[in-house]
Amino acid sequence: AKVLTGKLVRGFESLPLRMRLNSLIEENFRVIETQKKALKKLGLKTVRNLLFYFPSRYESFSERKNINELYDGDKTTVYGKIIEAKTQKTRQRKINLSQITIGDFTGTIKAVWFNQPYIANILKIGDKVSLSGKIASNKSGLYIANPSYEKTDSYELLNEGNAVSPVYSESRGITSRWLKFAIMKILKEIEEFPKDAIPEKILKKYNLPKLSSALISIHAPKNTDSAEVARKRFSFEEIFFIQIARLKERAERDKYDSFEIKISEKEMNEFLKIFPFELTQAQKKSIKNIVENFKNPAPMSRLLEGDVGSGKTAVAVAAAYAIARNGYQIAYMAPTEILAQQHFKSFMEYFSQLRLTTKIGLITSSECRKFPSKINPDEPTHISKTQLLKWVESGEIPILIGTHSLIQNKVKFKNLALVIIDEQHRFGTRQRAVLAKEKSDKLPHLLSMTATPIPRTLALTVYGDLDLSLLDEMPAGRKKIITAIVPPEQRQRAYEQIRVEIKNGRQAFIICPRIDEPDPDKALAINAKSVKEEAKRLKKEIFPEFEIGILHGKMPARGGSASGGKPTKESEMRRFVEGEIDILVATSVVEVGIDVPNATMIIIEGAERFGLAQLHQLRGRVMRSSHQAYCFVFTESDSLKTKQRLSALEKAKSGFELAEYDLKFRGAGELSGAKQWGVSDIGMEALKNLKMVEVARTESQKILKSDPEFKKHPLIKEKLKKHSAIHFE
Ligand code: ADP
Ligand code: MG
Repeated sequence: AKVLTGKLVRGFESLPLRMRLNSLIEENFRVIETQKKALKKLGLKTVRNLLFYFPSRYESFSERKNINELYDGDKTTVYGKIIEAKTQKTRQRKINLSQITIGDFTGTIKAVWFNQPYIANILKIGDKVSLSGKIASNKSGLYIANPSYEKTDSYELLNEGNAVSPVYSESRGITSRWLKFAIMKILKEIEEFPKDAIPEKILKKYNLPKLSSALISIHAPKNTDSAEVARKRFSFEEIFFIQIARLKERAERDKYDSFEIKISEKEMNEFLKIFPFELTQAQKKSIKNIVENFKNPAPMSRLLEGDVGSGKTAVAVAAAYAIARNGYQIAYMAPTEILAQQHFKSFMEYFSQLRLTTKIGLITSSECRKFPSKINPDEPTHISKTQLLKWVESGEIPILIGTHSLIQNKVKFKNLALVIIDEQHRFGTRQRAVLAKEKSDKLPHLLSMTATPIPRTLALTVYGDLDLSLLDEMPAGRKKIITAIVPPEQRQRAYEQIRVEIKNGRQAFIICPRIDEPDPDKALAINAKSVKEEAKRLKKEIFPEFEIGILHGKMPARGGSASGGKPTKESEMRRFVEGEIDILVATSVVEVGIDVPNATMIIIEGAERFGLAQLHQLRGRVMRSSHQAYCFVFTESDSLKTKQRLSALEKAKSGFELAEYDLKFRGAGELSGAKQWGVSDIGMEALKNLKMVEVARTESQKILKSDPEFKKHPLIKEKLKKHSAIHFE
């Protein structure tokens, strides 16, 4: 069997950090190629990179369990002898499925891999192996899906005499064992350790190990504690530097002047009367915060955070009014075309009630509109892009709402003073400057809005450059959504209830965890539903009388010929908004801000696969109506933990509470879209520790205050430069 090992050349006395890994790999051409590819895939180019490729976990004796001691949900390593091995193609979509059964003296367990046909060449009946991964269960018992594996002759596997052994994430062609060996060699033969960018004073103060000792302990820990201390240092380091980067960004921004916007409290209060409702205290406070910022010469950098339905748009409208009133312009950027249109509509409704009409423009890739129309002052009108851009440039249109086209199309403003952005995680100084008039020495104010619930520690870190306004209060008089965790035997009843609601004219979302890709659990007969199959099944077996549409991330955003091209995200969403579709079967792509007041039901399949905060956001899709809304949650998992977790959904008051819950009980990896904030796994570890995050913030503030250009901290400066691609826009 071709075992993908391959070794590092011996004989280097001292490995320079910059040295390229490729030149370190010897022997057998084929093996070299696979390894080179794997290293590339893992982003590992140099000795330094490998040194900073940290174990994803450790294994120690105490973790090792006999097969009959395993439970569903355990993350562990099992040892055994292979007693059965087979490879097959699944019937649908021809996915390669490798399956083995291993046994020890206490029992047997299955392991499966998808699309890794070479497994069959490596793991053979009779081999002794260790498998590491998460234990899951289905009707036929426990199994372990896509585990990492290692062949082992003895049932013992110890690293250099230590009782703890690192386990690295693997890629095809590179095993954890290979990585361990290579890194061990580097640790022994490295010319010098990288310089420590964290000031020694800080390390001492918080009892954190120096870089060199942390690097050794993280890869070759003496015991679990020393590994933990090392990881703590690196997670501190990461959030510390993100915070410095954010604060530096803020400091740079604050060097600019912005537009001074004057509006009296009386006038603002007068304006707020246009809303057909009384603003919540939280909305009033946010508007006050904003008006305060406007009085300062420094540009506002504010984040408005509030659950779906908490009324962020009204705050945006008030901010826009203050700007327009002072004769300046506003750009409002939404993540999708439908949302841009919705905002355009809300703005029209509110502003049309003012005696002095404020002109509003809409720009997306497919249309441009202006409000009010000359002919009918209550309606908008389509205009050409050229015309729109001309009016924006001349200042004739003070409020421009749009998608990314807003910044892509060289839109020029006469005097842009406020940028409002909805649900876009980072929006940098550069983009802001681009939007402002060329050669302007002023930076527009920024109001960023989000409904993505994240824990406080993450917000402090990734939004460290923004001031925060929180809408932590829902408008009065909302009907509370009814959330029900539905046991399998009551599925039909839930469907009947849905049927009644739809017959009364309502609409429903049905969320499935997958589109149609292969699913490890599927082959093992767990019913993780996919959008495509579920839509077919519902149409055929449950709701033949209703129109069912689908929506998922792999559909084209828009385009196709207007005359019956393939359905796109845009077209299906529109058909749903317009009521042509009764039931929209979708993946979690519907998460972001769509407003379909008539949709009052959401069914979530495979709920155990979603983070709580994400479930909450999905539920938010149907909380916009004056009709009673329902959220039916289905899960295939019997585990008590899942049930407890899901029941938090019934109790929690806000998405932020749920985000904290997931962080606490399931770890940072469960935060929805954890990757999008540019925080690595190890950085995420810090987020469970509010104290550490606050310390990082205090220390980074101190450095920026005492040494704003990092003259006394050249290593920090260098580090920021290197990371600027990630942390600066
Ligand atoms: P989001 O924060 O999700 O963007 P929206 O701004 O879209 O929320 O507001 C959701 C709905 O609540 C809208 O229909 C809006 O008119 C309404 N709304 C906003 N503020 C209030 C309030 N203070 N009282 C009653 N209804 C409100
Ligand atoms: Mg909104």
